This record gives sequence, C-alpha cells and structure tokens, in this order.
Amino acid sequence: MNQSIPEKIKKNIPHKALDVFNKFTKVGLEIYLVGGAVRDLLLGQKNIVDLDFTTNATPKKIQSLFFKSFYDNQYGTVKVPYKKDVIEITTYRSEKEYTDFRHPNQVTWGKTIEEDLSRRDFTVNAIALGPNKKPKTKDQQPTIKLIDSFNGQKDLKDKIIRCVGNPDKRFGEDALRILRAIRLAIKLEFEIEPKTFTALTKNVSLLNNISGERIREELFKILLDKNIDRGFQLMKKAKILDKILPEVTKGYGMKQKGHHLWNVWKHSVLTVKYCPSIDPLVKLAALLHDVGKPVVVKDIDGERTFYNHEVIGASIARNIGQRLRLANKDLDRLTRLVRWHQFSVSEKQTNKAVKRFIRHVGKENIDDMLDLRTGDRLGSGAKETSWRTEEFKKRLIEVQKQPFTVTDLKVNGRDVMKILKISPGPKVGQALNEIFEKVDNDKLPNERKILLKEIKLLK
Ligand code: ATP
Ligand code: MG
Repeated sequence: MNQSIPEKIKKNIPHKALDVFNKFTKVGLEIYLVGGAVRDLLLGQKNIVDLDFTTNATPKKIQSLFFKSFYDNQYGTVKVPYKKDVIEITTYRSEKEYTDFRHPNQVTWGKTIEEDLSRRDFTVNAIALGPNKKPKTKDQQPTIKLIDSFNGQKDLKDKIIRCVGNPDKRFGEDALRILRAIRLAIKLEFEIEPKTFTALTKNVSLLNNISGERIREELFKILLDKNIDRGFQLMKKAKILDKILPEVTKGYGMKQKGHHLWNVWKHSVLTVKYCPSIDPLVKLAALLHDVGKPVVVKDIDGERTFYNHEVIGASIARNIGQRLRLANKDLDRLTRLVRWHQFSVSEKQTNKAVKRFIRHVGKENIDDMLDLRTGDRLGSGAKETSWRTEEFKKRLIEVQKQPFTVTDLKVNGRDVMKILKISPGPKVGQALNEIFEKVDNDKLPNERKILLKEIKLLK
C-alpha cells in the first residue's frame, strides 16, 4: 500500500534523511526512514533528530557507502556519524529472525520492506518513508512515498497503540514490547487497544526472561516521562510491577499518618513526578525512597510508624539496582539517596551535623538529594519548599567552605614538624587530628595564622 506523503509533512523531512535517500537510490538500492522518526514526523513534529533507516543493502554494502561507519554486530546495525549526529542503518529484518534465535550467527536478512515492517512492534512504529525508484533523468529528485502496510496512520489519527499482527504472539516473541507499549502510550498520550492490552497482561510473566539492562532502559524512559503517574497506573493494572518491581507493590494502599495525604504507593509515584531532576537514577531513587516503609510499618498506640525505613529501604534499593544491572557508581548513588533522604533541615543543627550529612550523601549528590526532597514534599501535598529548607540550602553552601578532613586544613604536616621540631611519624597525624577536631567543632576558624599558633600550644 504505497501512499504519497502529505505536503505539510514533506517540508519537515530532515535534510540528512534526503541526503541518505539520494546516496542509496543513486546506486539502485532501497532505503527507508522508519520507526519513531516517521511516527513523529506524521504527528507534525519538526526537528526530528533520531534517524533510523532500513535498506535491502547488506551491512557490508552499507559500510562501503560511507567513509566512516561502525558495524554494531549485536543488532546488525551500521552506525554512521553524520553532521554531529549518528544515524543508524539496518538491513531489512527477516520473518525467520525469531525461529532462528538459537543460531544468532546464521542471520538471514529480510527481502522486502514489508517483511521488515511486519517485524516491528506497533502499527504506529511500522510506517516507512522513502524514495521511489531512481529518477529517469539525473537532476530529477526521486519522489517520496509512505509504506503503511498495517494502517499505522489511522492508529496515529485515532491515538491508538496496537500490535502489528497477533498481539499474543508478538509479546511472546519479545516481552520487552510490554514495557514499550506502556512507554509509547504515555509519551504520545494514546490508548492501548483492548486486544493489545489483554495480550500484554497475559504475557507479563515473560518479563522474567528479559535482561535487567533492557528493562532498565525502558523503565528509565517511563520514569522521565511527564506522564509517569499514568505509566505506573497502567503497570499496576497490568500487573507488570509485580514482575519488575514487586517491592514497590507492597506500598499499594498502605495508609500513612501525619502530614501525608497519600498512601505509600501514590506518594512514591507522585514523588517521581514532581522531582525536578532529569536524571533517571534520581527519579528511581525518588520512586524507591519509601520502599522500606511496608517492611517496617508498626502501629504503636494507634499511631502508624515507619522507624528506620530508610535503612531497610536502602538495602532494598541496592537489590533492585543490582537486578537492573546498574553500574557500581550508580548503585552507590541510588543507595545513598535512599539511605539519607530523611535528613532534617532544622536551624538548630550544628555545623558538624550538617557536615556529617554532606559526607554521608557525598558532595556531588547534594543537588540530587535536594531534588528528591522537592519531589517528596510536593508528592505529599506540601508546598515546594519551606523557609527552613531554604536556610538549610544556604548552610549547605556555607558549610562546604569549611574543612571536611585534615587535608582541608590551612596547615599541614610540614608545619607541624617544623614547629614541634619532630620528624615524620604518627605524632604528626595526631597533632593535625587534634587541630581538625577543634575546627570541625567550630572551636577554631580555619585560618593559617591562628592554626600555626595552636600548633605551638601543642608543644
Ligand atoms: P523513541 O522516539 O522513543 O526513540 P522509537 O519508536 O524510535 O521511539 P526505538 O527504541 O528507537 O523507539 O526503536 C526504533 C524502532 O525499532 C521502533 O519504532 C520499532 O519500529 C522498532 N523496534 C524497537 N524495539 C522493538 C522491539 N522490541 N520489537 C519490535 N520492534 C522494535
Ligand atoms: Mg528512536
């Protein structure tokens, strides 16, 4: 079903795409823009950056067309650096791909664009846009056509996410599509077609076979979406969370007392929504900050308590992070953000206590922690901030100017050795520690002149 392309869309086709089309048509090869780029173009978006192409050329042939390119063996994709971006060109996928999955080396490529489109996940993602055959004369530009074998344009118009082909079979082939359906539905603000939703629900247990990395990638995009609350509502309804984040489901309907308007589950989701960070790891920490509550909940004298929920929560978050295959550095950040999220912002705290907080969280994670707190407050129905919080932020900056360890002192071991006339040894460290204790407790300022005098007193 070849179709011409609406005029108003035509002018939004990126020049880079037209360049690529020309390169392939010149040598008689088929080439199409596919996936999200075509979908977003048809939705009227203007500056499309992520360009995915598909072609009947083999990876080897594709590489021969570009001066610089890399072959990503795992996905059979050729990546081409192109005017500051990287475009991805993949040879047509074959119908046989899934039956052949035990022999990943015996790749059989698809023969036609239609075959490739039939392997794609949803109808709105299965529309191809490309040039017609080689023009008759040299200066003629090839005309552009759409190939929409699965009525993706109609579903775009009706705002529907629908599987290409039999949904039950499609989710069976690759359960990650379950998460992709949710992500696309919230991103585009579309409904999931009932048969697709039923099939998705039926196949959730297959998510157990999907690697932590792939789940993380989709989960992170859902966490960053402004409609994250709808995404999590859908994942609750389809029992997806029971598979990928069972720890979070324990908060369903769990009532809280005091200033909290919402149950633990709703509060957690709203904390993510209102957390202003654009870092998915911070969003994950926001989601998990109260994950320990259902484990430690106790009703004492009619009052609901969650003592030490941040301690147990940190260890649960660490487990989840490991399951999602986070890098060690991120695992550490996630755990710290959950472990110390209960910090108080009282003006009565000593500088020493504020410094201890900074040490626990890590200087580089302070802004993330404050973002989490903003989400936590807004997600409880409180105001975005308070004067105490604002004062505390000022103190965090002030206190960071103070020494955190002996090495931040304005005097060092050499000063100690010279003044006390001693040689290197444990005594030098002891003297510095003594000085540091005093500075840390606000008994002395970190000023060289004063500290030198103090060393003399140690004689
Ligand atoms: P986004 O705009 O968020 O990048 P996208 O649709 O481009 O969305 P990608 O993950 O970049 O999503 O994938 C590009 C295209 O590859 C999809 O539009 C779809 O056609 C196809 N695709 C990706 N993942 C799958 C999958 N698991 N199963 C089938 N087709 C897929
Ligand atoms: Mg994309």
